[in-house]
Amino acid sequence: MESSKLISDFIPLMRPSILEEDIAAVVKVLRSGMLVQGTEVDLLEQRLTHFFDTPSTMVANGTATLHLALVALGIGSGDEVIVPAFSYIATANVVELVGATPIFVDIDLRSYNIDVLKIEEKISSRTKAIIPVHEFGLACDISEIVRIATLRNIYVIEDAACALGSTVDGRPVGTFGTFGSFSFHPRKAITSGEGGALICDEKALIDSVRALRNHGIESVNNKQEFTKAGFNYRMTDFQAALLQSQLNRLEKILFMKNELAQVYFNEIQSQNILLPVVPDNKKHSWQTFHTLLADGIVRDLIITKLKSKGIGSNYGAQCIPAQKFYQEKYHLECEKLFPNALHAYNNGLAIPMYDGLSKEKISYVAKTLNNII
Ligand SMILES: *Cc1c(COP(=O)(O)O)cnc(C)c1O
Repeated sequence: MESSKLISDFIPLMRPSILEEDIAAVVKVLRSGMLVQGTEVDLLEQRLTHFFDTPSTMVANGTATLHLALVALGIGSGDEVIVPAFSYIATANVVELVGATPIFVDIDLRSYNIDVLKIEEKISSRTKAIIPVHEFGLACDISEIVRIATLRNIYVIEDAACALGSTVDGRPVGTFGTFGSFSFHPRKAITSGEGGALICDEKALIDSVRALRNHGIESVNNKQEFTKAGFNYRMTDFQAALLQSQLNRLEKILFMKNELAQVYFNEIQSQNILLPVVPDNKKHSWQTFHTLLADGIVRDLIITKLKSKGIGSNYGAQCIPAQKFYQEKYHLECEKLFPNALHAYNNGLAIPMYDGLSKEKISYVAKTLNNII
């Protein structure tokens, strides 16, 4: 009885982990009367600063962190910023928001990350930064990207929105570039509903970000001055409390997701499903378990079939230059310029992955996939 009940429950692609202790932490702040960017945000910043061994600043969401990084670096009109052609659309939108031009680079289909061999040919005298993404929680070739960027005197802003807890040779992603950016949207490992963190060890830059997130206010000679036309990109204290509560079990969540990923690796047998590849020196945080369907398989039909079997699934990320805004503005021919990004966009399938899932449910998803593909 128990097992038939298990498989009759719909298995969503993702469900955030919210425990009673998280709820209690939020309620405590609500009762305090202090709601926005106060003690709890400070405490969370201290914990993340310790976690990364790099100064950390909390911001309203992941997109805002990237936006602030670009503004703090003075990137704007006339500048170019290199971004992968396959990511969540925010990675490129922020470049548009500051008036700069995103220059797209195709991805490597084994990692879904920016193809480092194709970066140098896209660097021009206008290039000011690269925003590499650690897509789905697997680190890109960040050391090589930093090497190229340093030689060409351009900044690296790591979009680690999906990659809290991912490492390369034991070193956390986000700590390689000038800035590391994280999101705490409910699709990520731990969540505050909306939330972001920006890490950076250059004091002038982080001070600038801290002013910019709060209307441009900062302390000058012990006096509060509005030194910039800033934003309101503050995090609330109840979100910070929720995140602190979740941070307590980050390691457990990452461990559980890795266990579940192993079940997919062991049990997905279909030759028409390409499984992710994780190099030995990288720790994947499994924000998404992203597979690639063989040519000829209609992904959207598979999504519908899975849904009828009680399983949520979706495409993984967008081929950004193929989206309406970017097509109308730049008319880039994606089949020719970004074949891998387009293929991942059309044939990519993200399947359920979150720490509240049981191994039995993962097995059920794997069996169902084997049966229908
Ligand atoms: C989630 C995500 C973002 C945006 O984060 P938000 O907190 O939703 O603004 C940016 N880039 C990537 C790669 C993401 O996955």
